[in-house]
Amino acid sequence: MIDANFFDGRSARLHPARLLPSSTGLVVSAPSFERSYPRDAIALSEPFAAAPAMLRFADGASCEVPAGEGREQLLAALGYRKSAVVRWQARWPAALLALVLLAGLLALAWFRGLPWAAEHVAASLPASVDTRLGQAALASLAQQKLIGPSRLPAERIAEVEALLPAVQPAQGRLPLRLLVRESGPLGANALALPDGTIIVTDGLVRLAMGKKEALDDGARAELVAVLGHEAGHVEHRHTVRVMARSSLTAALSATLFGDFSAVAAGLPAVLSQMAYSREMETDANKYAIEVLHRQHLSASHFSDILGKLEQQQDAATAKLPRWMRNTLGYLSTHPDTDDRILLMDAVSAIEKGGDGNYR
Ligand SMILES: [Zn+2]
Repeated sequence: MIDANFFDGRSARLHPARLLPSSTGLVVSAPSFERSYPRDAIALSEPFAAAPAMLRFADGASCEVPAGEGREQLLAALGYRKSAVVRWQARWPAALLALVLLAGLLALAWFRGLPWAAEHVAASLPASVDTRLGQAALASLAQQKLIGPSRLPAERIAEVEALLPAVQPAQGRLPLRLLVRESGPLGANALALPDGTIIVTDGLVRLAMGKKEALDDGARAELVAVLGHEAGHVEHRHTVRVMARSSLTAALSATLFGDFSAVAAGLPAVLSQMAYSREMETDANKYAIEVLHRQHLSASHFSDILGKLEQQQDAATAKLPRWMRNTLGYLSTHPDTDDRILLMDAVSAIEKGGDGNYR
């Protein structure tokens, strides 16, 4: 006899009862009734260590058997065997292994699955997205007074604009457009907008010219290098790809951690935190070097201007408030000049000791 609490499934009333296992099932015996259930009309929920065992019967009734000897007798009588999962979860090594596997799976989804999915999402977005994003970005730059009309002489602007065909690929994804603009906050800088607009600041043109007050061949080559880098961002469609990745990251973290505010905050939030990845910067650098080679210019012009930019930018951004540096970050300012100079050193070394193909 096993003591149990019986509920008939129709009222909330508890009936103290005794259970008597039989060869065909179970007899429930209470002071006012006796019921007999065949084995296949009894379902046993998974028993936990210190919790009562729950029996559910086909007629809607249920029975609670407190933990203890009676419960063990009942489990034995009903032929209960712990399932494999129940046995595993009671073992520390198996639980730890499962935890490690779960973490591995999440990491794989995060670092591999997500970029892969983002590439597919970006590829499926039409070019009109790039155009609209570019227009919106340009409007917001002007609105925030980050750029204004160039103060360079008209002939200097024309000289800079004349460099654009050198970086425009024959079969480009988008026609490029070059704007020379004055910008106090951006300093000497260049940015690529997703619609193919490349903005070069007056400061960058002056930086390339140096003290000479004229665009000599060296200054032209340096500007071509920077334009090439920015054209690389346009051609590889980096803005849209970064956006797709950040949006998916926000969506995945919301799914995992239940905080949908990042997604609800929408694209503006994503845009303001955007930065090109290191691979993207490297791709843009490769593109710039190809452009220089096509023009029979040495890649050292690229490292020259990057060195100048880095010096100038360290001084300029130190004065900017933090929010503004973040805002500028999404428009592809030049975050990794150290890496670029390293890259350029490697390229220069190849050129010097190389097979003579490069000039
Ligand atoms: Zn870049």
